[in-house]
Amino acid sequence: MGWSNWSGLEHASPSRVITPGSLDEVIAAIVAARDGGTTLKAAGTGHSFTAIASPGSGTHLLPGRMTGIVAVDREAMTVTARAGTQLKTLNADLERLGLSLHNMGDIAEQTLAGAVSTGTHGTGGLLAAGLSAQLAGFTIVTGTGEVLSCSATSNPEVFALGRVGLGALGVLVDVTFMVEPLFALEAVEQPMSWEEFHGSFDAMTAEAHHVDAYWFPHTDRLLTKRNTRLASLDETEPLSATKAWFDDNFLQNTAFGTLAALANLAPGVIPRMNRMNASLLSPRTYSDVAHRVFVAERRVVFREMEYAVPRADGLEVLRECRRALDASDLRISFPVELRVAPADDVALSTAYERDSFYLAFHTHHAAEHRAYFALLEPILRAAGGRPHWGKIHTQDAASLAERYPRFAEFVALRDRLDPDRVFGNDYLRRVLGA
Ligand SMILES: Cc1cc2nc3c(=O)[nH]c(=O)nc-3n(C[C@H](O)[C@H](O)[C@H](O)COP(=O)(O)OP(=O)(O)OC[C@H]3O[C@@H](n4cnc5c(N)ncnc54)[C@H](O)[C@@H]3O)c2cc1C
Repeated sequence: MGWSNWSGLEHASPSRVITPGSLDEVIAAIVAARDGGTTLKAAGTGHSFTAIASPGSGTHLLPGRMTGIVAVDREAMTVTARAGTQLKTLNADLERLGLSLHNMGDIAEQTLAGAVSTGTHGTGGLLAAGLSAQLAGFTIVTGTGEVLSCSATSNPEVFALGRVGLGALGVLVDVTFMVEPLFALEAVEQPMSWEEFHGSFDAMTAEAHHVDAYWFPHTDRLLTKRNTRLASLDETEPLSATKAWFDDNFLQNTAFGTLAALANLAPGVIPRMNRMNASLLSPRTYSDVAHRVFVAERRVVFREMEYAVPRADGLEVLRECRRALDASDLRISFPVELRVAPADDVALSTAYERDSFYLAFHTHHAAEHRAYFALLEPILRAAGGRPHWGKIHTQDAASLAERYPRFAEFVALRDRLDPDRVFGNDYLRRVLGA
């Protein structure tokens, strides 16, 4: 069965597809691949835009039978789930248990293993923006078939280096997240001018727990979304279905998809279309259980590049990207997403030891993304930017080593855990150098 990722950019034809249901079956599959001199790639849901999850022509290990919560520790406030569980399933199960993750990204389709392996993050956050920084432990089967239980106290060096593991160290079989009691968020969505956004960004991020913003290229308009924790779950006023304009009618709906698709044929209309889309935005406030506020559906398929730059430089980098885009003849229909994250201690996290500002650039899947990303990537790289491991970028091991202080240690750990490159693929050869 062929494989392709969500955005449709990457394809592969694995020679064998397996769906293990037990630890022993995972070990057997890895040992068989190693003995046969072939590769094995664990699949998530294919939501990475890069070829990081490509199985090539080797064995493809599907996650469908490795799902569900296996342990809840209310004293330690941790929950262990099998690695193939989708985030949306975990969110629903946690809600039933009166529990929640601290923070997450803007969709929940990904598997837990897939999300942590590429450093998936949200915005802001009391503890962290990234899911890997919320890990308390994981169990991994290495390229030699060894099972390692990893936490701050058990195999601590693997835990320290492997929470964003790029699928390069082994197959994750379970992951343990730190959790907290279920909580509610109030979301305030407010359109803003470019000037107003730049003038109020620091105050917004200081006051709200999570700030997300979308700039409409070729316009002076942004939509900001500020999420703040409520004292009680009883205070929530969820969005009625009819009022769900932003999620239903802007980011993911067919009208926007159709407009964007048409705009590909006549890019000259895009600035006017973006101005019209931005002018349709109006402020609104709603509140709900946290994961329903964090997450939105995305039905319009797109391509994406995202970089993390030092938090203090973020707005200037954004202005530089705008100057470059304005000076080019490119016409971009998709908004640029802006988020922030506190520093964390995960070796290959884009926020490793650095408060970070994220800039994410999107194009409609049928539009040409290469020229757009090639225009802006040098600006992001020059700003010390670290690319999202699951989103399109052109960096290689040499340039990434300069950006991650513990890069060499990660590579050495990989040499130890996967000496025969059972988990290797072209993407990992590029970003890890072998
Ligand atoms: C619409 C959309 C919205 C997104 N929003 C965000 C966002 O808000 N924030 C953000 O940071 N990112 C976001 N992403 C990126 C996405 O979160 C990451 O690319 C994530 O890795 C996808 O998870 P997945 O389950 O699809 O994994 P895949 O893309 O299938 O795989 C990712 C990696 O995980 C590895 N892997 C999977 N399972 C295992 C396992 N059991 N053991 C070891 N390795 C494993 C794979 O081999 C691969 O290396 C978004 C992507 C899309 C398409």
